[in-house]
Amino acid sequence: MQKGHCLCGDVQYEFDETQVGFGLHCHCKDCQRVTGSGKATVIMFPLDAVSISGEYKTFASLGFEGSHVSRGFCPTCGSQMFTFVDELPGQIFIKAGGMEDTSWLAVETTCWTSTARDWLPADSGTACFEMNPGL
Ligand SMILES: [Zn+2]
Ligand SMILES: [Zn+2]
Repeated sequence: MQKGHCLCGDVQYEFDETQVGFGLHCHCKDCQRVTGSGKATVIMFPLDAVSISGEYKTFASLGFEGSHVSRGFCPTCGSQMFTFVDELPGQIFIKAGGMEDTSWLAVETTCWTSTARDWLPADSGTACFEMNPGL
């Protein structure tokens, strides 16, 4: 099991890293906006491989290709931690930056390279997609 938490520590989570679906770097404009950076690195797990303690809030928005996305964040410190996509039921994406240990993690995919910023270019060592990878 692995752990992670938000900046203030009010929201903690544990997950079974052996249940990882995949990890990806997302350079879409929404991920840039919520992270305040050039990309989000998110790792997908089945919901039942993850337990969350503490109250987080979600903000729902429409993805660029019509998906329904809710991003979970700590209402106290604002840390972005989770993403849920209605079109991918039973799955949760966890942002890798909040995880305590990521030595087990390999990120092999990059999406939305079409909106990657010059100052944080897409990782060409990963499988790159101009938009969503069509999951
Ligand atoms: Zn917090
Ligand atoms: Zn994104």
